[in-house]
Amino acid sequence: MYVGAHVSASGGVANAPANAAAIGATAFALFVKNQRQWSAPPLGKEQVEAFKLSCEKHGFGPRQILPHDTYLINLGAPDGENLKKSRAAFLDEMARCRLLGLEMLNFHPGSHRGLISPEACLDLVASSVNAALEKSSGVTAVIENTAGQGGSVGRTFEELAYLIEKIEDKSRVGVCLDTCHLFAAGYDLRQPEAYEATMADFGRTVGFSYLRAMHLNDCKSAFGSRVDRHQNLGKGTIGLEAFRMIASDQRLKSIPLILETPEPELWPDEIAMLRDFEAGKQKRQPGKRP
Ligand SMILES: [Zn+2]
Ligand SMILES: [Zn+2]
Repeated sequence: MYVGAHVSASGGVANAPANAAAIGATAFALFVKNQRQWSAPPLGKEQVEAFKLSCEKHGFGPRQILPHDTYLINLGAPDGENLKKSRAAFLDEMARCRLLGLEMLNFHPGSHRGLISPEACLDLVASSVNAALEKSSGVTAVIENTAGQGGSVGRTFEELAYLIEKIEDKSRVGVCLDTCHLFAAGYDLRQPEAYEATMADFGRTVGFSYLRAMHLNDCKSAFGSRVDRHQNLGKGTIGLEAFRMIASDQRLKSIPLILETPEPELWPDEIAMLRDFEAGKQKRQPGKRP
């Protein structure tokens, strides 16, 4: 099982692998540039080399690393100016990933902001991704499912399948399932039957061959609320059972499982707990040592 967290890259991307190793991670996510700004200086040769060396030192290969794009990017933006900026920024991030030797870029599909139909927004997202894939190489665009908050598209498996259908290069498109977003979107994970039904629906509608990563977050908001609020594992509305099932799910053994839970101090415990779950050991509440 490849498990880790979205770690800090503050001071430079080359710091991220050590931050991940320090919490006992075998996978990690990072921002490849400042996530709150449109543009950033290009990655220097030294930074790139330092990042690659650190990944090698700590045993992280490209399949264990899931970069996340900038929050400002909206590939389905209803207004032309924003769409243009988003497409340029996304392409820049694809190029940064490639430079760093990474093979995936995780992104939120986009938001119609109530200004265009969800379908028109999805079509814009698909053409944005097609344009980016055409102008780049080696990096897979990994679509994250959303909670459906604020006009976000990509809430349902049908919408994810619709996007994949419209993306020309099927070899460079994938999906990242975020458990908090799933739950807030109305996909239950709490009981074995509900978990299996959700996973089977995903398998039928999208297909496990497209599943490239998962984000493991408990949820502060209610089931089906469409409100995206992450919580630490076992402290939210989903509960620990779902994460025990994920850790022992054979379909998820070769993809990065990334925590985006709010208290980084708990990540070492959360990772250790997931490993206990994988090994079939008793559950243990993070933050409460036995
Ligand atoms: Zn995300
Ligand atoms: Zn997420």
